[in-house]
Amino acid sequence: MNILPFVQRIGEGFLDVAFPASCASCGDALENPPLPHVCHRCFSKIHIVEDPRCLTCGHPFFGDAESHDDCQHCSRLTPKFARGWSVTLFRGPIRILIYALKYEDAFWALGDLGRISEYAEGLGDFLEEAILVPVPLHSRKLRERGYNQSALITEELCRRFEVEHRDDFLTRIVDTESQTRFNRQDRYRNLKNAFAVERKSDLDLKKRYVLVDDVFTTGSTLNACAAALRKSGVKEVDVLTIGHG
Ligand SMILES: [Zn+2]
Ligand SMILES: [Zn+2]
Repeated sequence: MNILPFVQRIGEGFLDVAFPASCASCGDALENPPLPHVCHRCFSKIHIVEDPRCLTCGHPFFGDAESHDDCQHCSRLTPKFARGWSVTLFRGPIRILIYALKYEDAFWALGDLGRISEYAEGLGDFLEEAILVPVPLHSRKLRERGYNQSALITEELCRRFEVEHRDDFLTRIVDTESQTRFNRQDRYRNLKNAFAVERKSDLDLKKRYVLVDDVFTTGSTLNACAAALRKSGVKEVDVLTIGHG
């Protein structure tokens, strides 16, 4: 479902009334803010990831990059994707914006997440000629929430970076979140087979696909999606997240 046109139809005027001009993070009044809903002080607390960073998961290497052969955030992953990029670290104002979007129907946060992505140096090059693919929700979860926040983020990024996206072939066939009766190991095993590619013949295998999710936590969801794409014959799969946990 594409909710953006609906939100845009409501118009900025309504949004200003519904969400008065105060910082989403600290509540201070906004004056020429660097992001639509984040003040200068809170913006300075956002960690936009720069080099040196882990090329697999996108987490920054603090200090001496030479001493980081292994990244502690993804060293236990056997990545099925080649490269990973995260725009920011998932903390402070970014955590507030993503939670608002994910759990409070705060579609206004998309503008902030899109704008912060434009501050990430080199992201345009990373996305060049890629096809963005949001991590899908299971149909039960989609019905419950009403929208897929990763799909909305993907649309926002496509608009700003002028790249294409596809959300019609990767599906989540196993409802892993409802499997609380399984132990952790079983759930992990189920996650590995949770995604499937439909209409394989419709895929352009020569293209590079970039999977998009809101947050990189263990990377196992993104990895399961990447595995499904690779199994379908896609050669190049990378991943992009807004926040790295
Ligand atoms: Zn603030
Ligand atoms: Zn890493």
